[in-house]
Amino acid sequence: MLDQQAAGLKLFGVLELIKKHENEMRQVFTHSGSSIITDDQMIDLLKPIYDDNTQRKEIDINTYKAMCDFVQELHHKECDLAVGDLLKFITGVRKIPALGLPKQIAIYFIHGCDQVKCKCRPKASTCDLHLRLPVHYQTAEDMIAAWMSALKECKGFGHL
Ligand SMILES: [Zn+2]
Repeated sequence: MLDQQAAGLKLFGVLELIKKHENEMRQVFTHSGSSIITDDQMIDLLKPIYDDNTQRKEIDINTYKAMCDFVQELHHKECDLAVGDLLKFITGVRKIPALGLPKQIAIYFIHGCDQVKCKCRPKASTCDLHLRLPVHYQTAEDMIAAWMSALKECKGFGHL
C-alpha cells in the first residue's frame, strides 16, 4: 500500500521533492508532539465579536473571560478533557494543522434566551470556524459545567 503510494508519487516527481524537503514535509505528514495545542495558543485563535450595545458588550466580555478561564482550566487541571478536545469540537481536528487554521475562530455571543431552566449549550460550526456562546455562562463555574457536558457528548458520540 505504502509502496504503491510511493510509486505513484515518484511518477510525478513528488517523492523526490518530499525527500529533498524532508524536515518541512515531516510537519505536514506526521503528528509531532509539539503540535499539541496549549491554552495560550487556543486563546490566540479566538476572536470575540462583541455587541455594539454597551450593556450587552459588558455581558459579552464577562462571558469571554469565563471562556478563557475555562481554556486555562482545561490546560492546567487534571481532567479527562484537554484543550485539544475543545479545538476538535470547534474545528473538527484535535491539533492545529501544520499550515495553521485558515482564520481565527469567531465567537458570537447569544443573547435573549430564556435563562430560567435554560439548557442551551455552546455550539460550533466546523466549516465556518465559529462558536456560538450563550451569555448565561458568565462565571467560570457555569462555563465549565456547560462545556464539560458539550465536550463529553462530542467525545462520546462523535461530532456531527
Ligand atoms: Zn439559553
